[in-house]
Amino acid sequence: MTWNYSKSASLYGIDGWASGYFRINEKGNVEVTPYGPDKPKLDLFQLTCDLNDRGITPPILIRLPDVVKSRIDLLSNCFQKAINDYKYPGDYKGVFPIKVNQQNHLIQEIVDFGKARSLGLECGSKPELLVALALMNTQEALIICNGFKDVEYIETALLSQKLGRNTYIVIDRFEELNMVIDASKKLKIRPKIGFRAKLNAQGSGKWVESSGAKSKFGLTPSEIVKGINILKKEDLLSSLELFHFHIGSQITSIQAIKSSLKEAVRYYTEFYSLGANLKYLDVGGGLGVDYDGSGGGTDNSTNYDEQEYANDVVSIVQSACEEKNVPFPSIVTEAGRSLVAHSSILIFNVVGENRVAKPNFSLDVTEKDSRLVRELYDIYNYLNTENINECYNDLLEKKRDTMNMFSYGVLSLEQRAKAEDLYWAISTKMVQVAKQTEDTEDLIWDLEKELSDTYYCNFSIFQSLPDCWALDQIFPVMPIHRHNENPNRRAILVDMTCDSDGKLDKFLDPEAGGTQDYLEVHELKEGEPYYLGVFLTGAYQETLGDLHNLFGDTNAVHISICENGSGSGYKIEGVVEGDSVEEVLSYVEYNKPELIKKIREASEKSIADGILTNQEAKLLMNYYQQALSGYTYLEDPDE
Ligand SMILES: *Cc1c(COP(=O)(O)O)cnc(C)c1O
Repeated sequence: MTWNYSKSASLYGIDGWASGYFRINEKGNVEVTPYGPDKPKLDLFQLTCDLNDRGITPPILIRLPDVVKSRIDLLSNCFQKAINDYKYPGDYKGVFPIKVNQQNHLIQEIVDFGKARSLGLECGSKPELLVALALMNTQEALIICNGFKDVEYIETALLSQKLGRNTYIVIDRFEELNMVIDASKKLKIRPKIGFRAKLNAQGSGKWVESSGAKSKFGLTPSEIVKGINILKKEDLLSSLELFHFHIGSQITSIQAIKSSLKEAVRYYTEFYSLGANLKYLDVGGGLGVDYDGSGGGTDNSTNYDEQEYANDVVSIVQSACEEKNVPFPSIVTEAGRSLVAHSSILIFNVVGENRVAKPNFSLDVTEKDSRLVRELYDIYNYLNTENINECYNDLLEKKRDTMNMFSYGVLSLEQRAKAEDLYWAISTKMVQVAKQTEDTEDLIWDLEKELSDTYYCNFSIFQSLPDCWALDQIFPVMPIHRHNENPNRRAILVDMTCDSDGKLDKFLDPEAGGTQDYLEVHELKEGEPYYLGVFLTGAYQETLGDLHNLFGDTNAVHISICENGSGSGYKIEGVVEGDSVEEVLSYVEYNKPELIKKIREASEKSIADGILTNQEAKLLMNYYQQALSGYTYLEDPDE
């Protein structure tokens, strides 16, 4: 049975989660296809090799502006289609929540690509507002201010109207209403106000707690009624233009979205009964991403797509407005994850392995060996389909005996080593034998889990995939090359930190659905790099990452895809160099000259004591200084 790239495609389930942006090409490399298979595309393996040649070494975060553009267009087109299909009389406006990925290049791309779609920005804090004000001047687009607010935040938002910005201040907590009224009197600027409601309806998935009566933000029904009365008294009711809710991120079920919408549109129509003529209904974020490609049923997937989402939003708003005979609002969404998740890929290299499986085993066992070792050797030789369960139980017992006898001092280290080698050899053989018989699934499962190898990988989970660590988020992971070869090894991936949590040991299992405890990988080849990619990492992973073990930001490269002779070309739009050791150290208050001075003093002392030669001192100083200005990750793994 020969292996080929289409077998790999189904093994890694790429068609399920790639949303058409990625596929495996005939060379067996993963390529990016933002405009479809016949349009310009980008070979990720080729790109990684090229970047490496230019001194941009892994781990590298590849950011893909073409994918960002495609996502913006997709969501906008879905809403346009829904509006046309339902003949909805209002329009659609998206805003991108900056917190999902604040990187300067990305926000600029979003603003540029979003211009034609009047895409705005949502800010959840004062710093994010400052970014939005400086970067976006799209005429029709909205700036929506959420989050905790002080007077400075509110006054900046008000003043920004004088720069021609459409800045809306959303009242997230009741106290903010008076702050806004006071600020607007002081500055004599009429505010544009939104009310955020605490819905009773809940999201679904990991963020279910973000909604409901105890949620952090939003006004209760009585606060809304009180608020409207205050605005009436201040003659500011016409300033109240927007109604907002947000029921949490990565909503897995369309049913949860629909029930929250049904509650929200009731609020919207009730505002009219109370005299407020709103213009905008802002349905928040939460549009999910199908990370595992399963099409629903897990926290990492969604049971709906973007078009279904748009259809439901438009039709539910429309029927509520028709029923209560109120004007149709502009529909605003704050989808964040869905717009950018697909646009980044983390690529890293494998720097080593720890292999436990012993497929071709030979060992000399003689009368001189301990009884335990001889008994294990017998199991190895006599194991067959008939006695497999018995052998398995014996094996487990002998494993316990090995450890006990070593601890009690009756087994030497040399004999323990032999026993352990035999244990792994028996386990490896047992899996092969078990596969020839029935009713051994449990045994195979246990053994294979134990037999999976460990691949040491040049990245930090804490820096680059914080949601894997904190939230058990699953991202698709796969090699980016060698897909015409059978990936006949199974491994968990451990990172470069010294933390036992620094590992990836849950992966998609596209064939059976759900997750598995290992990733299928290829044999490592001497002198050849092996690159793995983690996909769909564009949302939330960058700024939530931390400096565990002082591994810093990775190199990041913005690559746009363009036509060249061979139909596959790219242009580097920008390189954001990863943190140097020196930079990371300065975050924790170390200062380079001081560190160097200390090493120099220690060297001088050792030279004086005759322990260190001048040459050694020079070498040490060189390494020390070089390392300070170098990358925090391993730099020369392929040499
Ligand atoms: C975080 C957040 C969003 C973005 O949610 P996604 O799930 O990324 O779409 C939108 N609106 C508000 C108010 C948020 O806090």
